[in-house]
Amino acid sequence: MTPAVPPSCCPACGAVPRPSFQLGNGAWLLRCPRCLLGWWEWPAFDPASFYDRDYFQSAAVSRGYNDYAALEAAVRRTARGRLRRIAALLRRRARADGRRPCLLDLGCGTGHFLDEARRTRWEVSGVEVSAYAAAEARGRGLDVTCAQLEEVSLPGGEFDCVTLWDVLEHTRDPAGVLAAAASAVRPGGVVALSTGDITSLCARLSGPRWHLFNVPEHLFFFSPRSLRLLLEQAGCRVGRTTREVNWVPLWYVIERLRKPGRQVRREGRAPGGSSWTLPVTLFDVLGVYAVRVARPDTA
Ligand SMILES: [Zn+2]
Repeated sequence: MTPAVPPSCCPACGAVPRPSFQLGNGAWLLRCPRCLLGWWEWPAFDPASFYDRDYFQSAAVSRGYNDYAALEAAVRRTARGRLRRIAALLRRRARADGRRPCLLDLGCGTGHFLDEARRTRWEVSGVEVSAYAAAEARGRGLDVTCAQLEEVSLPGGEFDCVTLWDVLEHTRDPAGVLAAAASAVRPGGVVALSTGDITSLCARLSGPRWHLFNVPEHLFFFSPRSLRLLLEQAGCRVGRTTREVNWVPLWYVIERLRKPGRQVRREGRAPGGSSWTLPVTLFDVLGVYAVRVARPDTA
């Protein structure tokens, strides 16, 4: 059952949190003193209506993406790097039956990652809370269920890999979502995710102004230790942790340098330069690749 309210103790280690500082919306960041997981006392809201079309094309509103579709080439390049890391972990744990490997992407958005996986011989499917994004993904011929991750029912042991890219921080029950993701993976399969690192140098130097404290979208803020604990509770062992490098369009970087702090519009890109991408990282986003070793203890 999805918790309707923020937790009163740490979902990763059970410790009682302490107030840390106020975020941009005035809410207090609560921080676990033991594993350093952070969260805030978010109000009730409906994710299905929040992640609408505007969230993915929001030049006019202060949330989501300016134009997610315009970032497609860069998102695909990031996806290919992630697929290579998953393949490296799975290589020694190949399926015995010779079937094509199956991948489920939780919070698949408009489906760019799934489409890249399909091109490299994965059988793919996804779950997405946004009706707009799910429809876009289905338009690419992808098998996508529109549902909240906290409430979707997943088949046990079905997949070789379940992924959650920049998704876990949006969920109201990260422990439950990770447990469900892990139980949907066969033993020896991979759970892969990315999320911001609240213990990173960038986060510590930025304080309340850290760019990943973007409320109300982000509800939880993870540390490497809290992620390891949550994955272990779910029956997984962390196989590899990376600092994620995101590929972004060259026109996007140029516009950000020319107009710092301003909204970047797709119209501002250099003509013919939309497929040129650059690697960008602030070393504050973790990629975690874990192997399922056992069934979770929880019923
Ligand atoms: Zn904790």
